Amino acid sequence: MFYNIRNRDLILLIVSVLSLSNLHAQTKVIAHRGYWNCEGSAQNSITSLQKAQELNIYGSEFDVWMTTDGVLVINHDGVIDGLKIEDVDYAQLKEKLLKNGEKLPLLEEYLLQGKKERKTRLILELKPHNSKEKEERAVAAVVKLVDKHNMRRQIEYISFRLGICKEFVRLDRKAKVAYLNGDLAPKELKAIHINGIDYHYTVLQKNRAWVDEARKLKMTVNVWTVNSKEIMQEMMAAGVDFITTDDPVLCKETLRPKPVAPPRSGSPLPAQPAR
Ligand code: MG
Repeated sequence: MFYNIRNRDLILLIVSVLSLSNLHAQTKVIAHRGYWNCEGSAQNSITSLQKAQELNIYGSEFDVWMTTDGVLVINHDGVIDGLKIEDVDYAQLKEKLLKNGEKLPLLEEYLLQGKKERKTRLILELKPHNSKEKEERAVAAVVKLVDKHNMRRQIEYISFRLGICKEFVRLDRKAKVAYLNGDLAPKELKAIHINGIDYHYTVLQKNRAWVDEARKLKMTVNVWTVNSKEIMQEMMAAGVDFITTDDPVLCKETLRPKPVAPPRSGSPLPAQPAR
């Protein structure tokens, strides 16, 4: 039967197979602080994670702080209504509400929502705290909670603080850990077993060679926070693995692989008689 395939069909088949194999290298979407730019949602809310899960994208990012009594909470800013999260105990925060009326989420509540859809990776950013001791305590508490829920392979860690990244690597050598601060070349991070860069897109615009360098070292490349279609296309063409965005719907649409168009009739391909 194979011998009946005409040359044109064979070329189409090869193009299709090549397109499918490229899917594995496609740039993927991560919702920045969840999918919050929609009805009923708010940044870093449980709803924002649930809505990101419904989008069927690679992952959902969120920010973690630890209170003085060791409770891990989800919020971007370090201060809520004048209270510095890392300097107060949880009792002072537990009645605080997000913009959509939800209570300030605990990391554990976030993980429980995450478990409902195992395909969606949870991109956990641990914020820099004001002492190394607090940061090490926070990393240990995060890993302990992740282990309690058996979620090691669904979580990826990111941080602006190199020491936090190193501590995650120390406690879970197989963890996916990426550094956010944009000031180190991939090879410098690889040397200390950090396996991803997650930099502002302007850093990669200035250091194009870092994408190839990371790829050769089998490291991942993520960029933040890309909200324009043009920059999404530019970053995809540059070959990054992930784009972190406030507009995951636009990003998903922009990155969608285009179907391979069949040759138009009258194309210059020579017609071959079927045998
Ligand atoms: Mg963040």
